[in-house]
Amino acid sequence: MIRMEGIHKHFHDLHVLNHIDLDVEKGSTTVVIGPSGSGKTTLLRCLKLLDFPDQGTLSIAKATMTFSGEVKLNKTDIRSIRKHTGMVFQNYNLFPHLTVLQNIMEGPVIVLKQSSKTAKDKALSILDKVGLRDRADYYPHQLSGGQQQRVGIARAMAMNPEVLLFDEPTSALDPELVGEVLKVMKDLAFEGMTMVIVTHEMGFAKEVADQVVIMDQGAIIERGTPADIFDASTNERTLQFLRKVN
Ligand code: ADP
Repeated sequence: MIRMEGIHKHFHDLHVLNHIDLDVEKGSTTVVIGPSGSGKTTLLRCLKLLDFPDQGTLSIAKATMTFSGEVKLNKTDIRSIRKHTGMVFQNYNLFPHLTVLQNIMEGPVIVLKQSSKTAKDKALSILDKVGLRDRADYYPHQLSGGQQQRVGIARAMAMNPEVLLFDEPTSALDPELVGEVLKVMKDLAFEGMTMVIVTHEMGFAKEVADQVVIMDQGAIIERGTPADIFDASTNERTLQFLRKVN
């Protein structure tokens, strides 16, 4: 579903992604972990083309784009990649002046040109799935952080993406609200959604990930199944990181 080949990204002199090669199978869950500043968020942002790689090739579903410093990016190519992914942010990024239902309908109506009726029916069925149908007419500030993040997930799902990208979706939440968000993500994984998740929730990674990717200083230093990484890694930098978070 996703292939990154030789992806590089600089911010000025900082080499933030250093030759990233990554494959993500359709229907699988990939969890990306690693120290702060190792490039995890930038990797996700490059998958959504919120940041553009300087070099390398990115394929998502049937769309492919090759980046090289000199060539100007083509807007049609950018759109053809972007439409395959939905992103869930750490701070939810909901529109404060719109209700839950309106937040979820906005993308399908404005971008996908769906009728209000179609978008509303779909939004309500997704709200059922994330357990928030009874909050459809609430505004974000009337919800807990965990509920707001479940709306964030619902909003991403409403665009029918083939891949969901999560950037530390539970980091801003009080500990007692983390479980309800992880539960929604787990349900999605078991239903076969393709997901790439940056998180510090090691228990979730062990239980749900098909592939765990360890990043350090802009590079993928190791990747494998949870058993490969958590029980059998011999990589000193991986072990050092795992000692810190456990
Ligand atoms: P992580 O998600 O692993 O904490 P990030 O991808 O957020 O890492 O950041 C990687 C490095 O890139 C950090 O050193 C960060 O300060 C830097 N960085 C991220 N975004 C920008 C930006 N827009 N401009 C300049 N530097 C950035």
